Amino acid sequence: MQPFEKMLQQLPVVVFQLQLLDNGLITFPYINESAFSIFEYTSTEIISDSKTVLSKIYAHDTYAIKRIIKSSLQNMHSIDFDLRLDHSKRGIIWVNISASPEKVGTATIWHGYLKDVTKEKEQFLYLVESERKYRATIENSLNGFIIGRDGAVLDANRAAIKMFGYDSLDEMKQKQRTDLFDDQSEEYQKIRRERTINGKARGEVRGIKKNGEYFPCIMFSNFFTDANGTSNTINSFIDISEEVEAKEKLTKNQQLLSQAEILAEIGSSEIDYKTGKFLWSDGFYKIHGLEPSGEEITDKISAQFLHPDDRYKIALLEEAPKKKVDHLELDSKIIRADGVEREISSYWKFTYDSEGMPLKMYGVVQDITARKEQERLLKSLNNELVSKASKLLSSNKELERFAYVASHDLQEPLRNINGALQLLKEKYKDQLDDRANEFIDYSINSSIRMKELITDLLEFSRVDNTVVEMKDIDLNEVIEEVILTLAPVIEREQGKIKIGKLPIINGVHTQIVQLFQNLIGNALKYRSKERLPYIEIKTMEEDKEWKISISDNGIGIDDRYYDKIFVIFQRLHKKYEYNGTGIGLAICKKIVENHGGSIGVTSKVGIGSSFHFTLPK
Ligand code: ADP
Repeated sequence: MQPFEKMLQQLPVVVFQLQLLDNGLITFPYINESAFSIFEYTSTEIISDSKTVLSKIYAHDTYAIKRIIKSSLQNMHSIDFDLRLDHSKRGIIWVNISASPEKVGTATIWHGYLKDVTKEKEQFLYLVESERKYRATIENSLNGFIIGRDGAVLDANRAAIKMFGYDSLDEMKQKQRTDLFDDQSEEYQKIRRERTINGKARGEVRGIKKNGEYFPCIMFSNFFTDANGTSNTINSFIDISEEVEAKEKLTKNQQLLSQAEILAEIGSSEIDYKTGKFLWSDGFYKIHGLEPSGEEITDKISAQFLHPDDRYKIALLEEAPKKKVDHLELDSKIIRADGVEREISSYWKFTYDSEGMPLKMYGVVQDITARKEQERLLKSLNNELVSKASKLLSSNKELERFAYVASHDLQEPLRNINGALQLLKEKYKDQLDDRANEFIDYSINSSIRMKELITDLLEFSRVDNTVVEMKDIDLNEVIEEVILTLAPVIEREQGKIKIGKLPIINGVHTQIVQLFQNLIGNALKYRSKERLPYIEIKTMEEDKEWKISISDNGIGIDDRYYDKIFVIFQRLHKKYEYNGTGIGLAICKKIVENHGGSIGVTSKVGIGSSFHFTLPK
């Protein structure tokens, strides 16, 4: 063996000569012993039969290798490519082939070498795969990623491009750190300082969108050194606009709640049985006369505000969770931090875990001092009202008794005066002059009028609500009776009365007769001179009462007098226009009210009036 060949045999790479004959046959005129480790055939075996090597080529690569050799043959260019082989023990292995062609007669010979690159290839493929995986992860991440160097953007993922409002990576690459971040802020500078020391840092910063809008984000920033040894930064971001907004909303709501609590003089508290922690709302502090969050609350502090008279109630609160009570309501007095005594009302709710162990106690407390005072005032006002009403009632009764006694007792002297005047007139008529006789007539008329008034007053005072002789009364029969009594007037006035079906009510018979008699009598008395009287009596059934109306087509009443006419002795006419004392409607009112109803009128002057009253069913 030549020294040169000896050297070739010992090389760790496979050195070979590959010959392509013009009939397409491939042979290996030379191959060194290293071939065995790759092809599992000795160089002698390979040189005597090239199929040994060719059969080892990975099936998928045969087409590619043919193309490469063909092209090298056409251009006489060197070849350099990777090829897969089937190794019986190692499976698929990778070799790199490097060779240059040379024409030798009609044949072509490639001189070259091949080496096992499986390890490198696997490493490379692993890198490619992991790069692909990382890229896919980063591209699909909801977090934004930006790789930067010296303030410039080198790369960014889709989420970052979207987060900052850009359309493409190219557009974003034209931006600097200063365009993307409020980088002069204290927080940003802090992150940079920390990153210089620790190689990484995190914090909350403000990002700037393409349209200039700021948005809050959490930034994780790391240094990393690339393959060339250059230091880059990789920053990832989470947009926390929604969280910040929700937090602001929550804070605002809490402020509102706290204001509402203070306005309503309400406070809330929470006790965690597991941690023993007390939580008092601002309103709760205020109710106790303390500044919110002044000092940490413990059960001792909480108890010391209770008025000594009410201290025993602490035991109720302590016992409640042991007895698995659901909630507790307590009214108690407290002495505030400023020494002022207040009354509070509280509601305590207890919660338990699945094993029945107490979890928390929630409390709502309200200062009810003012309410208790409004209540006391109301009570005293009410008492005053009740006593005044009873005084009024008794003085009313006295008045009625007086009216009765007076009218009853006045009757006799009046009768005497009238008798004496009549006698005077009869016996001395001729001895007195005309003027004296006129005086006597005038006095007689006055005494007659006075008699009428006294009779009516007596009648009014007789409508006594203490007389209880209530019984069922058929109003249809009452009307019949009244019409019979009023028959001469009805006839004289040529009146017509239309009567609807009337109900049976419970009442005092004489009073109900008087009620209808007065109202129908008035309807005939206050008739229009232009038309014959027409009266209609109707009944409407309501839930708990009967509504009865007596309408006429008489002279009518101005609405200014709707109330006045029901007052005793109140009349709208002179005696010479319409006879009367002004007591009829006052009696009607008294009767209706005695029966638990009410009376009123609606009317149109010149058209007619409608008196209506209710009677309970
Ligand atoms: P009197 O008829 O004796 O005057 P009342 O108490 O019955 O007293 O009536 C009070 C006043 O109400 C009457 O003076 C009259 O002016 C008015 N009034 C009562 N009923 C009617 C009616 N049906 N139409 C018009 N006015 C009436």
